[in-house]
Amino acid sequence: MRNKEGYRAEYIYGAGRRALARHDPVRALPLLRAAVDGIAMDGAHPGRHQELADRLYWLAITLIKLGKSGLAIKALASSQKLAPRGHARALYCRVSNEYGMPRSSCPEHDDYKAFFAIQARRYLANTPGRRFSNQTEMEAVLAVIADAWLRLHKSADLGDRSCGYKLHAFRAFRIDFPALLPSSLSSAGTVMPGDFWPGASASEHERCSCGSGLPVHRCCGRVPLPWER
Ligand SMILES: [Zn+2]
Repeated sequence: MRNKEGYRAEYIYGAGRRALARHDPVRALPLLRAAVDGIAMDGAHPGRHQELADRLYWLAITLIKLGKSGLAIKALASSQKLAPRGHARALYCRVSNEYGMPRSSCPEHDDYKAFFAIQARRYLANTPGRRFSNQTEMEAVLAVIADAWLRLHKSADLGDRSCGYKLHAFRAFRIDFPALLPSSLSSAGTVMPGDFWPGASASEHERCSCGSGLPVHRCCGRVPLPWER
């Protein structure tokens, strides 16, 4: 049975859809976010998966209109898992790449973005609030990762390799950021959680265990953006 929060979320969802229909994504965004959160507060269960998938889809549309493609991909990835035959699946496959990230204009850039996200996420895991403290720190990290990318390409021929193979290589590549981190926080020489990612043992064409029907690298084993929660 729907509780008070559930009815409130339904009203907010309608208001968000109307704002979007009036071409006002700025107003629609907080409303649709609240509507998505409302389903969880209302006690999400399998019978409401389609409803949650629809709300996530419209949230993603709003985020796309606002130019927030990374967050939109995350919402679409969640939506298509809940409703694999829904409209979110078609849109997700159109705007995402093999890594489950926003699609770039060329495969080489997709590869670099995946490598960058993996390495930057590791770095940010050891920073307060998972953020760069200033522009200088951010630019230094970007330069270190770009240099590491060149070194990886010199040591390994990844050009025609599969997505799964490249992900193994990206995740196995360890970058030491000693000059950028306080010594007490440095993770150099430690085993990182990233070594045990969901698709680590999956073959290239193995379908995701969640039942979505997509390859695991594009579904639950997708590469999250560096700041993604
Ligand atoms: Zn999945």
